[in-house]
Amino acid sequence: MNELSLIDGHAHLEELKDLSGSLDEARTAGVRGIVAVGMDIESNKNIFQIAQANQGYVYPAIGYHPWQIREGETKANLSFIRDHVQRCVALGEIGLDYKIKVKKELQWNVFGDLLDIALESDKPVIVHCRFSHRRAFEMARERKIKRAVFHWYSGPLGLLDEIVGTGYFISATPALAYSPPHQAAIKQAPIEKILLETDTPVSYQGRESRPKDVRITLEKVSRLKGLDPSVVSKQTTENACRLFKIRF
Ligand SMILES: [Zn+2]
Repeated sequence: MNELSLIDGHAHLEELKDLSGSLDEARTAGVRGIVAVGMDIESNKNIFQIAQANQGYVYPAIGYHPWQIREGETKANLSFIRDHVQRCVALGEIGLDYKIKVKKELQWNVFGDLLDIALESDKPVIVHCRFSHRRAFEMARERKIKRAVFHWYSGPLGLLDEIVGTGYFISATPALAYSPPHQAAIKQAPIEKILLETDTPVSYQGRESRPKDVRITLEKVSRLKGLDPSVVSKQTTENACRLFKIRF
């Protein structure tokens, strides 16, 4: 029995060895849907298989994560996405990461091409940024991308106002338990612009996450905002449904 209806807006389900048990636990915890994000061709293919086997529960996003970008592989990754974009609810995980060794220029080119695909196909984007928030935001805004979520936002607070002012969302993770920049962002953003997620199977303080842990995210967001969890659950699920055009 569960009164809550939650969506985990960002999970790497293809990395789970205990997938079916994790999905059962998530259902029991009140998770009504999961957006599964992809990293590269292989992971995107796996995402489609998982979504196919769990229709109406797992919603596929396909992407090309900056960590996976390799010179010589970009063409194949981009054309896989172009060919399959109509079958997904979003393009993700995509973005810019300045802490890794992949050249910035290559990252900008790939991210720009992915934003163009999102625009042409009218799909939202799920954006990963590290030390690159301003550039990623401006690339999306310049292209007039309408729907975007800046995942696990821990960037500058001034920029956050511009992000939500443009109509984009940010998402909250269980890192709210300990991360001051993430807490500050969630405190500042209006609840109408926040999604809940886990980034499963990321470890938080030494514990691997699963989609059911979106309950932890819910609890932390509720406490930070001083709102009842039922209010936060309802609003953030509506937000996710609007962003990803999901209908239950
Ligand atoms: Zn992720």
